[in-house]
Amino acid sequence: SKEQGRNNICFFSPAQHEAVLSRYRIAGLLHQALENNEFFMVYQPQIDVATGELIGAEALIRWYSPQLGQVSPEVFIPVAEDAGLIEAIGYWALEQSIKEAAGWGRKGLRFKLSVNFSARQFQRGEVANRLLALLHEYQLPTALFVVELTETCFMQCAEATERELVRMRAQGVRIAIDDFGTGYSSLSYIRNMSLDMIKIDRSFISQIDGAGTGGRLVQAMIDMSHAMKLEVVAEGVESAEDLDVLKQLGCDQAQGYHIARPMPASDLEGWAFSYKAE
Ligand code: C2E
Ligand code: CA
Ligand code: CA
Ligand code: CA
Repeated sequence: SKEQGRNNICFFSPAQHEAVLSRYRIAGLLHQALENNEFFMVYQPQIDVATGELIGAEALIRWYSPQLGQVSPEVFIPVAEDAGLIEAIGYWALEQSIKEAAGWGRKGLRFKLSVNFSARQFQRGEVANRLLALLHEYQLPTALFVVELTETCFMQCAEATERELVRMRAQGVRIAIDDFGTGYSSLSYIRNMSLDMIKIDRSFISQIDGAGTGGRLVQAMIDMSHAMKLEVVAEGVESAEDLDVLKQLGCDQAQGYHIARPMPASDLEGWAFSYKAE
């Protein structure tokens, strides 16, 4: 009918229509991406702010699609979550990064590996067992592994998540809350959950230089975390000034383009050896 026709036309703006189409397209292509080996991992170094020492690396997934080119994880991770593909992709990323970290470990490089987990991976209640089995299989010490998860994980199924975190921590794995400050975190969550570290989102770090209140806000986050015996990691450190301010504020660890961009494992090894030589 005329009515329906009008509704069809008005339902999406051209831009929205485009976005929906590309989400479908991405979901379709994601289905084959694992089999076709289109994913790879990159690693971003993390340093101790006080000493400058290299202490860890965060694993970040990359997708090169022959049809779409390089697609940002900010675009495809949410699509994978909706399409029910995140478990498979998440476990691929986990095993691949543990395998690569074990490789640099054998070359004498000892630093932590941090891996991002999606809330969905915590819903089945076997994530701790699977993680511990992989660490055992590749002989990566549990004390060198950090689970990064966002506030959403804590909100969505707090009890199931907490059970898994307790199991992981009992074996020495550490837990970081990611993108801190961007979600609906309440202090009570942070106080009650099994946590070791807080990662301050880069949207806050980009505000710490200059005359505004940004520095004081980050100072408050750091002090609050320390009061709860949590370590603080700053992400998105883009300049020497940022790093300097963070040092003054007592921040524990930092990562960002100023220190190094994310890079493949083979490059990280070379980077780490020359960084150590300084
Ligand atoms: P995130 O966990 O907050 O990761 C930090 C993001 O900031 C990364 O983007 C990193 O490349 C970028 N970054 C690092 N230093 C700087 C800097 O100095 N300046 C700026 N502007 N950006 C910086 P990336 O790699 O595109 O990842 C985006 C998001 O995708 C991640 O945010 C994370 O939420 C998600 N993600 C990435 N890999 C995985 C994964 O294996 N599994 C899951 N579930 N999510 C992932
Ligand atoms: Ca992260
Ligand atoms: Ca972030
Ligand atoms: Ca800035």
